[in-house]
Amino acid sequence: MLTGMQIAVIGGDARQLEVVRKLTELDAKLLLVGFEQLDHAFTGAVKEKMEDINFNELDSVILPVRGTDTNGKVETIFSSEEVVLSEEMIKKTPAHCIFYSGISNDYLDGIFKKADRKLELLFERDDVAIYNSIPTVEGAIMMAIQHTDFTIHGSNVSVLGLGRVGMSVARSFQALGAKVKVGARKSEDIARICEMALTPFHLNDIAAEMKNVDICINTIPFPIITAKVIANMPVHTLIIDLASKPGGTDFRYAEKRGIKALLAPSLPGIVAPKTAGQILANALGLLIQGEFMKRKGKKI
Ligand code: NAP
Repeated sequence: MLTGMQIAVIGGDARQLEVVRKLTELDAKLLLVGFEQLDHAFTGAVKEKMEDINFNELDSVILPVRGTDTNGKVETIFSSEEVVLSEEMIKKTPAHCIFYSGISNDYLDGIFKKADRKLELLFERDDVAIYNSIPTVEGAIMMAIQHTDFTIHGSNVSVLGLGRVGMSVARSFQALGAKVKVGARKSEDIARICEMALTPFHLNDIAAEMKNVDICINTIPFPIITAKVIANMPVHTLIIDLASKPGGTDFRYAEKRGIKALLAPSLPGIVAPKTAGQILANALGLLIQGEFMKRKGKKI
């Protein structure tokens, strides 16, 4: 339980409501900034303005999945007010106060370094990334169905990368009856692809491997689907690029060749905001309880 803890939740979208629900269930006292247009009230949570927050009384601060923009502005879809997180605010918090966000950027890295506080990035955690791969795959399947006139079953699907998302994508398309090939660069990943009864190829051979691909799903955040690779694809190929912006595809050349290439970011928040919020809420519940117990010198 988080009885006695004071946590500020600053901005965010529908996913943050699951976080608020979870933390109020755990009995934390919550201050909600950027939620004044939200009709729903949560017992134990008070809506506040940023200027009324006493940062020196906070034990934790939860930022939206994207953190802030590169000027410190926090996304607030339940508010029309501008909310900005500054170095001065962070410096006012007690030394034990931990901030949580999904990802970071240069602005956040800079102010947290100067303020000497910890910013914990949820999307860098394996557990969160693996849980999150579930709605990501469902989004990729949705896109494959929407943008093709053939079934996934029986089609040739190439997945690039065998990380946390790539593995889930490959397994799910295999389960739907696709003939799945996976491209990777490490010998242990090639071995794992074989073990999964999928067809492996080394990324050095990517161009040659694209000759009969129907759907190519990229999870590698690196320019991997180059013009040379696209030149070898049949013209009906659908590219679904799941890698973080700007993706790994030469979109200009794909368009020139008449190949449909879609950059598909943030699928969990689009196809399953409630589940995506619960994934974050569960991770945050465990992390904050762990920190709370550590401060009290107790074992979890
Ligand atoms: P991950 O576990 O780190 O996997 C990344 C994969 O890319 C690994 O197989 C890695 O191989 C490979 N890779 C990285 N750089 C490479 C390079 N230069 N050349 C060849 N291979 C390279 O990451 P993840 O959690 O699966 O996420 C993958 C991407 O999807 C990220 O960009 C993430 O932000 C994004 N994502 C998107 C969504 C969405 O909704 N679209 C949802 C979740 C995640 P090695 O192990 O050999 O480095």
